[in-house]
Amino acid sequence: MAVATLPAFRTKAFINGEFREAASGQTFVTENPATGQPLADVAAGDAADIDAAVRAARRAFDDGRWSQLAPADRKRILLRFADLLEANAEELAMLDSLEAGKPITDCRDVDIPETVKTYRWFAEAIDKVFDAVAPTGPEALGLIVREPIGVVGAVVPWNFPILMATWKVAPALAAGNTMVVKPAELTSLSTIRMAELAVEAGVPEGVLNVVPGLGETAGQALGRHPDVDMVTFTGSTEVGRYFLKYSAESNLKRITLEMGGKSPQVVLADPPDLDRVTEQVLIAGLMNMGENCSCGSRLIVHRSVQQELVANLVRGLEAWPVGDPQEPETRLGPMIEKPHLDKVLDYIEEGRSEGARVVTGGERTLDETGGYFVAPTIFDDVRNSMKIAREEIFGPVISVIPFDDEDEAIALANQTNYGLAASVYTRDLERAIRFSRAIRAGTVGVNAYSEGDITTPFGGYKESGFGGRDKGLEALEQYTEKKTIWFQLG
Ligand code: NDP
Repeated sequence: MAVATLPAFRTKAFINGEFREAASGQTFVTENPATGQPLADVAAGDAADIDAAVRAARRAFDDGRWSQLAPADRKRILLRFADLLEANAEELAMLDSLEAGKPITDCRDVDIPETVKTYRWFAEAIDKVFDAVAPTGPEALGLIVREPIGVVGAVVPWNFPILMATWKVAPALAAGNTMVVKPAELTSLSTIRMAELAVEAGVPEGVLNVVPGLGETAGQALGRHPDVDMVTFTGSTEVGRYFLKYSAESNLKRITLEMGGKSPQVVLADPPDLDRVTEQVLIAGLMNMGENCSCGSRLIVHRSVQQELVANLVRGLEAWPVGDPQEPETRLGPMIEKPHLDKVLDYIEEGRSEGARVVTGGERTLDETGGYFVAPTIFDDVRNSMKIAREEIFGPVISVIPFDDEDEAIALANQTNYGLAASVYTRDLERAIRFSRAIRAGTVGVNAYSEGDITTPFGGYKESGFGGRDKGLEALEQYTEKKTIWFQLG
């Protein structure tokens, strides 16, 4: 592995501005998925640590050290925080690359710059949004004001460790809330470091707390805690459902869920430049090793262009080297852990046994490294009813599903329990509009794979999302309560 010096690892919980061992004294081991070797022993927080963090966050909320600051003052601190994250970009990129097996170039060029941008954008927004005055008669004055919700819990996944935490933390802190974040057990390090930098930037102690730990213990304790006002979650649909249950069985805390996907990339008979389509389809299917909730894993393609596009995709894979994530030219790192590697390989076998044809890939690779690498895989002649076309694989696997007429393509695109993202490729503007309206997904890219940017909301229809959106002013809004203040005059 080409890492000269490892950054220092912060491996303890960060509660009330200080590092703490887990109350139980327990730790768990994280490993480098590119080598299968252990990286760090991390504090295994559980219900006791979550409770301590929630109490710190509650005190910080109630005494107004953050929630009662003028928006312009919170903005100043959050901008300083963004600057500090930027100044430490190399270290943060390295932490995510080492723990998640993400290509270092992606971490440097995408995850960390997007993290910095997200804090800046929400910081800049908060002293520019206004509350409302109700259209009353002269006998009353009705104010509709937004207030922070209180203590917000965030439970986040391992695929974009610091960025997914940031999509929650930036708007929630900007709105004046205090927080407890439970990172994925596989990837805690960058989030713990981020919280330390927040305090260095002037975010008061107790406002941003991080408790590493397991989902079933720490995650569940946060979901069930009676003094948490909201939980925002990104991860699998299966675990998302638990949070609705935790809320129902505790204090009816607000829940927002950003979950899985099985996103269609629909290529009509008149695609724009096929080279560009090829490039976009490969990004959609392979970015972050396919460990991406909006992964465009179903390529629904008109039969007239199927053959040429598949041949192009195979050639295009030359630009996607698999290898050591620390090497700048690597575009595909390992799967996050051995059980996930096995799961992806099982899906590939299932695809074969259901009659889909492997055009390229279809196997583990670079075994000698000890890492969990899968060769990028393209299945042709897939039917939408096959398991590989229905279930989220979360690996570098693209399924090509041919169609003959456009209504069939729309039906195929929508034949899924998910609805996170989609793309349509066509030269015809009216077709593009028709498809983007007909596809039931939170984001539809036209002639590109896209999640939009920080200004646009991101989240899913159907089983991909519940109760809110990440990014955009919608995200800021969802971390607030609305209050009516009514003045009866005369
Ligand atoms: P999970 O949904 O299991 O994990 C997401 C977060 O929830 C993690 O912090 C996890 O903790 C926590 N969690 C797990 N179980 C519970 C529980 N019972 N109560 C409370 N919190 C819990 O995703 P995985 O990381 O296990 O990945 C499994 C699959 O989920 C993937 O293969 C993929 O299909 C999908 N996924 C989707 C993502 C998305 O962006 N939409 C992101 C990640 C995964 P811990 O890490 O300790 O398990």
